[in-house]
Amino acid sequence: MDGAALGPLAPPRAIDPAVFRLAVRKVVLDPGHGGSDPGAIAGGVREKDLTLDIARRVAALLAGQGLSVVLTRDGDETRSLQQRVEIANAARGDIFLSIHVNSIPTERRRGVETYYLGAATDPTVERLAGAENSGSGYSLADFRHLLEGVYVDVRHDESRRLAQAVQGRLFAALAHDNPQLEDRGVKQAPFVVLVGTEMPSVLAEVACISNHEDAELLHQGSYRQEIAASLAASVRRYAAAREPQTTVAHRRAGGV
Ligand SMILES: [Zn+2]
Repeated sequence: MDGAALGPLAPPRAIDPAVFRLAVRKVVLDPGHGGSDPGAIAGGVREKDLTLDIARRVAALLAGQGLSVVLTRDGDETRSLQQRVEIANAARGDIFLSIHVNSIPTERRRGVETYYLGAATDPTVERLAGAENSGSGYSLADFRHLLEGVYVDVRHDESRRLAQAVQGRLFAALAHDNPQLEDRGVKQAPFVVLVGTEMPSVLAEVACISNHEDAELLHQGSYRQEIAASLAASVRRYAAAREPQTTVAHRRAGGV
C-alpha cells in the first residue's frame, strides 16, 4: 500500500485519563529526609522533623476522609530514595506526595514551590535536585531502566495536574496570613523519587527554613497544621476530579 497517498499521518491525540474513570484511593506520603539525614537545618529546626510532623498531620486528615494512606517513614528513620520509591510502588499507591522544606541561600526570600518530573531549566533548581537526591540508593546502572518508564504513560500529565492542585492550595492558604510570601510556582526537576515512582507524583517545598520569619512560624503547630490542611485539601480536590461520578460535571465546570 502506498502510504504517501494517505498524506502525512496526524500526530496521535493524547487520551484524556478521565475516560478511564480512575479513582484515587491510596495516597503515599513521603516525609523528606530522616534518621542520619537531617535535611536543611536553620533557626533551631530540622527539615526531617518538620516533614514528618506535617506528613503525619496530612495522613490524619486524609484518613478521616476515607482515603487510605501509606507513609514512607513514620519515625526518625533513615530511608534511601530508592527505598521510598520501592515502598510507594509496592503499596500500589494512586498518588505520591513528597514533603520537603526549602533552604534558599538568599535569606530574605520565602515562598512555596511544587515540582513534578522533568528536566530542570534553571541552575538553582538543578542544585536543589542535587541536594534532595543525595543518598539516592540507586546505582548508575539503574538509571536507564528508571528513565525508560518516565514519559510512556499519562503519569506525566497527571503529575502536572497534581502539582498545580498542590501549589495552588498551598500558596492560597499560606499567603492569606503572609502577604510577602512568594508563589514560586509549579516547576519541573529530576528528583529521584519522582523518577522511580510509578504513579502521579509531586514534591512540595512547603516553606523556607532559611528565612527567619518562616523558621519562627514553623515552630508553631498551628502553622504546620495549616500547611498540612492545604496539602490534604489539594489531594482531596485532585481525587474528587478523578471520581467516576463527578469527573464529567466537574471538568465541564472548569475544575482541575
Ligand atoms: Zn529536602
